[in-house]
Amino acid sequence: MSTSASAHPAPSATADGGSVTDRLVEANRTYAAGFTDPGMDARPVLKVAVVACMDARIDLHAALGLELGDCHTIRNAGGVVTDDVIRSLTISQRALGTRSVVLVHHTGCGLESLTEEFRHDIEREVGQRPAWAVESFRDVEQDVRQSMQRVRTSPFLLSTEDVRGFVFDVKTGLLNEVAPAV
Ligand SMILES: [Zn+2]
Repeated sequence: MSTSASAHPAPSATADGGSVTDRLVEANRTYAAGFTDPGMDARPVLKVAVVACMDARIDLHAALGLELGDCHTIRNAGGVVTDDVIRSLTISQRALGTRSVVLVHHTGCGLESLTEEFRHDIEREVGQRPAWAVESFRDVEQDVRQSMQRVRTSPFLLSTEDVRGFVFDVKTGLLNEVAPAV
């Protein structure tokens, strides 16, 4: 990952020569053609915020039986509770009325194969150390516990009573609940 070629790969192209983004924009035209304003409120109907890994294999709404408008969805690499996730949860609770927090990590997460060395490699390559931690982990359940703890102990949140954490099994589609740290 130290060559400029691999650091800046060309955007992938579609079969007809357009970029992926062109394809998305095209799909949006079709979507908008059949779109009617559902007239929804911005406040999530189920008053829940779901923090999950960005992993492409997790269809969060389908996996949790959620409908459009039901929840806030906050996703990042690992589903880690970073300061920016706390920022989103704080806005979710204080400005938009959510009260429950659900954390979803998963089996086979890419963060299990990374270490903080990832940052050092980047620093060597670009001459600047990223300000963020990689937040890699070895034990996914322990990482869920740590994330739950970060939510529960945040001074900014209004509601930290209903915070539950899970590991989504990408092979079976099942959520396995993780007991919080005692
Ligand atoms: Zn992941």
